[in-house]
Amino acid sequence: MSGGQLGKMLTQVASVFDIQVYVMDQSNEAPAAQICHQFFQGDQTNFDDVYSFGKKVDLLTFEIEHINIEALRKLKKEGLTIYPDPETLHVIKDKGLQKEFYNNHHIPTSNFQLFNSKEEVLKAVQAGVVNYPFVQKLRTDGYDGKGVAVVTEASKLNRLIDAPCVIEDAVDIDKELSVIVARNPSGEIKCFPIVEMEFNEEANLVETLICPANVSKEVEQESIRIAVEVAEAFNLVGLLAVELFLDKKGNILVNESAPRTHNSGHHTIEANITSQYEQQLRAIFDWPLGDTSILSPSVMLNVLGEPGYIGKVKYEGLESILKVPGVKPHIYGKKITKPNRKMGHVTVLGKTIEEAQERAELVKNTLKVKTYESAKN
Ligand code: ADP
Repeated sequence: MSGGQLGKMLTQVASVFDIQVYVMDQSNEAPAAQICHQFFQGDQTNFDDVYSFGKKVDLLTFEIEHINIEALRKLKKEGLTIYPDPETLHVIKDKGLQKEFYNNHHIPTSNFQLFNSKEEVLKAVQAGVVNYPFVQKLRTDGYDGKGVAVVTEASKLNRLIDAPCVIEDAVDIDKELSVIVARNPSGEIKCFPIVEMEFNEEANLVETLICPANVSKEVEQESIRIAVEVAEAFNLVGLLAVELFLDKKGNILVNESAPRTHNSGHHTIEANITSQYEQQLRAIFDWPLGDTSILSPSVMLNVLGEPGYIGKVKYEGLESILKVPGVKPHIYGKKITKPNRKMGHVTVLGKTIEEAQERAELVKNTLKVKTYESAKN
């Protein structure tokens, strides 16, 4: 279900196993729509569209959280296999329920409170119940940093959005980390090696991944222990990407989880024995999980639409970066670029992480996503 880049990369691996993939998306130009066996145009938040799509398949999985849960519940009741389970999705797609879930399962996460509106938050700030610095997150429908506001002082209160939200303590972040866990119905569990995510403040989303992460053995082991605990608490089948904060005091906190293939696992296509996409298939078909060992150190760059350009996409510098050894570009096939839209990614391999980082820097300065028309603002 859903035809974005994650769906496209899953479909590519499915064809290796000769699995027939049906995709539903609002746009018939979505990346996966172009390569799947059958495409259905539909809105994944609409009950009827999801329900009638579900009636056409033998097993349903997804690459996005914003799906009509009631339709999934009805399909499950009528016997359709859906992985991950709709109830896992129900908890995760609401950041408020997700935070409560962590507390109920004694999984470390930053302190938080729930509010229904901006006015309620402002009152709590005035009453001293919410203290600076804090972070507001919309309970539903946020993605890629949209719907997240960091409020460090009173002058930043205008950043608040008027919607049901989570207000959480701002973490003094040392590193942002991710562990992708896979679990199959037989209960076998495997994690991918821990990844470090570098954040682009301007785009408010992850720009670079580094694998393996530059953290101590203790941090690595504890992160993996926590990620497995989260997957087991959800009784997960499929993949779960657990995003973590390592704070400046050395504490590890869960930021959020995603029950699907994830941006922080793109590098696994070239850099690990099993990719996250293959692992997703192995997990949902209850096959033995694959070896997640690293073949090569890697850096992954998200290829984002250049600010100032909206329109028919043009990739500048693609040929130049292909001259650099270890550079593996993935172009998702979105027709229109917008500022900071994820248009592709590049995985850069190196004999050492330093070599991969040097090559990645070159790619970052060379590959630009622009338009055929001149820049507009
Ligand atoms: P999204 O679901 O849109 O990716 P996240 O919850 O991952 O949103 O938040 C986006 C980014 O905002 C994080 O990667 C992190 O840099 C920052 N952030 C989120 N929560 C906190 C927090 N409690 N303290 C400090 N920074 C945070």
